[in-house]
Amino acid sequence: MRTSLIIERIDLADTGHPVQLAEILTHQLKAQLPQLLPILIEDVAFACGIEEIKGLNTEGFEGGLIQNEEKTSGYILVKSTSREDRRRFTIAHELGHFLNPYHVAPEGGLWCTKQDLRASGQWDNSRLGIEAQANEFAAHLLMPPTHLKTISTLWGSPEIQNILNLQHLCNVSKEAASIRYVGMHGDSCAVVFTHETKVRYIVYGGGFPRISIEKGHSVGRKTLTRNYTGPIGSISDQEESDSHQWLLPKDANRWNLWEEVLLQTDSYRLTLLLAEASNLDEDEKLIESWTPKFR
Ligand SMILES: [Zn+2]
Repeated sequence: MRTSLIIERIDLADTGHPVQLAEILTHQLKAQLPQLLPILIEDVAFACGIEEIKGLNTEGFEGGLIQNEEKTSGYILVKSTSREDRRRFTIAHELGHFLNPYHVAPEGGLWCTKQDLRASGQWDNSRLGIEAQANEFAAHLLMPPTHLKTISTLWGSPEIQNILNLQHLCNVSKEAASIRYVGMHGDSCAVVFTHETKVRYIVYGGGFPRISIEKGHSVGRKTLTRNYTGPIGSISDQEESDSHQWLLPKDANRWNLWEEVLLQTDSYRLTLLLAEASNLDEDEKLIESWTPKFR
């Protein structure tokens, strides 16, 4: 036996909903472990019927799943050169395919690319639909929201240090932690990942207005993201930011922004933007004052 964890697969048999599958697993794990996080993802996979997790050296794929027709046993393959946090997410993603009764692997296995591991949105039966489901399952299993909500030190006003705390607590990538953080927090905030000042990836939460800078384009010259300097790993203060550097004019007039920056190695940076609806502008105030008030 490769793990002492016990997963009752029968409890998982009635649903193909990725969130429900992850929650049933979390519930079973909580009953067996004094400390839930970080999730022992390899042990969980073995307890679910995965016989082996093997290295994958095929160019272009992050992970793969080979399973029997009944989905009672299988192998997970993970790109050998991946960092540990990405490996963990890939294993959880493949486990999501394995446990989902509707994710039928074609003969020769199910193979997942980097794009698949980022798929989100529609949960239909299309190829990208099942990839999005496997990602949702992985995020829910590795960062269980009902458990995270009980950890008060993660919350409060949004700040980069809390995203890093979540990342370390769950042993996931900064991207995965950022998606979960802004998704759960509720305040209007966005995380912008840049490399050499160019936008790589943006994560939105809480109704944050759309950022007008396209992927691959540089952030504005007057942003803290561009100008903050310090040693690798340092985090700036949260400073008020010129909204026009980030938003379309119509949005920039309606939102005040604050900006906080983390310096990473090799000119990578992570920026947290917080938005607060600005007070009504002068014209709107005037209209407001003319509008009769009825009681
Ligand atoms: Zn996949």
